[in-house]
Amino acid sequence: MTSPAFDALLEQARAAHRDIADIARFCPFPTDLRSSSFTAFHIKSADLMAADPVMNAPDAHPLARAFIAAGPQAQWRETYKNTMIGDDFMDRFACYCLIGQGGPWISDQMAGFVVYMPPGLHYTWHHHPAEELYYVLAGQAEFLREGADSKVLHTGDSSFHASNQPHAMETHDHPVMAYVIWRNHLGTPPVLTERTVDRP
Ligand code: FE
Repeated sequence: MTSPAFDALLEQARAAHRDIADIARFCPFPTDLRSSSFTAFHIKSADLMAADPVMNAPDAHPLARAFIAAGPQAQWRETYKNTMIGDDFMDRFACYCLIGQGGPWISDQMAGFVVYMPPGLHYTWHHHPAEELYYVLAGQAEFLREGADSKVLHTGDSSFHASNQPHAMETHDHPVMAYVIWRNHLGTPPVLTERTVDRP
């Protein structure tokens, strides 16, 4: 089930995989895309992303606006429902899939998502067997990876997470939107990392 908004979004993603060096190095645009049926599912944090002025600002990447434009038709995710993560996170963290399970296209080569966090939100430590690249489309956030110093990333920056490397993300005074790409081990969802103690 595609639509003009999803078709436009897919073309922006294709351009990103061609034109942005960090993304092109991590994963070429898939050659095996096929459309997939899904039903739209709305969560209230989707409205936060759509209304956020930082996501709609002129310096946001065009892919950010394309993710907002297709948002009303997307199947928004509730990845951490019924976990220890808490209601505030569920109410304010927003994510949907463009390529992969629950999205309009699927591929065996990669999955591609949008992730949005408003200011003042902590996405606690988690991990997954897929290798992952976060590319910041708008705003900024502090990225934490086990075994590395934390760093604040801005629009145009990226963060690589190795297979099963615990990672976390925190927004402070600004929101963030990122394009998230997975490669390898696409079928295993993320889980919260119990053995890593959060910073005080
Ligand atoms: Fe991750």
